[in-house]
Amino acid sequence: MLMKKRKMNRKLNFNAGPGALPAEVLQQAAAAVVEYNNSGLSILEISHRGTAFANIIEESKQLVRELCELDEDYEILWMHGGGRMQFCMIPMNFLGKDDFAGYIDSDHWSHSAMEYAKFYGNVQVLASSADDRYNHLPSWPEFIPAHLSYLHYTSNNTIYGSQWQTVPKCNVPLIADMSSDIFCSKRDYKNCDMFYAAVQKNVGAAGVTLVVIRKDMLQRIKRSLPSMLDYKAQANENSILNTAPVFAIYTALLTLRWTKAQGIDSLEKENRQKAHILYEEVERNSLFNLYVQNKEDRSLMNVCFTAIDPATEKGFLKFCEERNISGVKGHRSLGGFRVSLYNAVTMQATEQLVTAMKEYEHSVSI
Ligand code: PMP
Repeated sequence: MLMKKRKMNRKLNFNAGPGALPAEVLQQAAAAVVEYNNSGLSILEISHRGTAFANIIEESKQLVRELCELDEDYEILWMHGGGRMQFCMIPMNFLGKDDFAGYIDSDHWSHSAMEYAKFYGNVQVLASSADDRYNHLPSWPEFIPAHLSYLHYTSNNTIYGSQWQTVPKCNVPLIADMSSDIFCSKRDYKNCDMFYAAVQKNVGAAGVTLVVIRKDMLQRIKRSLPSMLDYKAQANENSILNTAPVFAIYTALLTLRWTKAQGIDSLEKENRQKAHILYEEVERNSLFNLYVQNKEDRSLMNVCFTAIDPATEKGFLKFCEERNISGVKGHRSLGGFRVSLYNAVTMQATEQLVTAMKEYEHSVSI
C-alpha cells in the first residue's frame, strides 16, 4: 500500500474545465497510477512506444470512431497544446498566405481562433454576435463563399453559454471546435471535415486534445511545416511523433469507455433533463437573470446567469461553498455564475444545485 486512505468529502463539481469526471474513471485512473494492468509498472512509467500504449491508442481511436459513427476515412489524432494549439495549427496547415478562411464569431474562443488565423492568411467573418456581447448565436450564414479554404465555428460557447445543437452541412471544408460539447448529444459528425476537442471537459484530463480529421484534408496542407505542427506527419506517426502524454490519453480512454457504456442517447436525454431543470429554475428565481435569452440558442453544457442585485452575487457563491457546491463562479470576462453540466455531472447533483438556488432565494427574502 503506497498511501493511507482518507475518506474524501467529494464536492459537487460544476467547473467549466477541467470539469467533472465520472467517479469510476477517477478510481480506475488512480489504480493505474499505482500499477497498470498487472504489469508491475505505473501507467506513468510505461513507454509510449511499447505494446501496452499502442493498444491504448488503438482502442481509443476505435471508440472515437464508434461514438461519432465514423469509418476509416477519418484520422483520429491525440495532440499536444490544448484547444489553442489547434487555433494555430488549423490555419498553419490549411490557410495559404493569400487565401481566405471563414470564421463564425460566437464567443471568446471562436474569436480567439480567428485572431490566430490572421498570422497565416486572411479571415472573413461570416457571422458575429460580438456587438451583443455574445448573448445569442449569430445567424448561420445563408451564403458561404466557395473560395474559402475552410469555415471554422465553435459548436458550444463555453463562456457565454450558447450552442449549435446540430452540425450544418457546408459547401467548403467545415472545421468545428467541439471542446466543450463533444459527446453531449447525438449529431452528424460526418458533416465536419475536421473537429477537435481539448479533452478536459467531456473526454478526460487536461494535457491532450482530440483531433478528428478526414483523410482527404491531409492532401490540402498549404505549407511545409515542422513535423510536430503538421497533421499529416502526426497521422503518419499515429500521434507518437514525440513522447505522447500517456496518462492523459489513458484517462481519455477510460472516459470514452464510460461514455460508450452510458450510450450517447441516454447521456443526451439526461443532459437535456439537467439543462431543463436548471434553466427553468434560473428563469423562475427572482434573484437571477439568464444570459442567453433565446431558448433555441441555449447550451446544454454551460448555463450562464447573473445576479439581478450584484450584492447577492458573493452571498450565493458563499452559500454554495457551504453546501459543497463548487465551480459555479462565472468566467472573469462575464462575471456572475456559470454552471457546467458536462456528461459526468449527475441529475442528482443538478437537483441539489436547484434546491440550493431555491433555498438561497428564500434566505434572502426573509
Ligand atoms: N475552445 C473552447 C470551446 C474552450 O472552451 C476552450 C477552453 N475552455 C478552448 C478552446 C481553449 O482550450 P485550451 O485551454 O486547452 O487551450
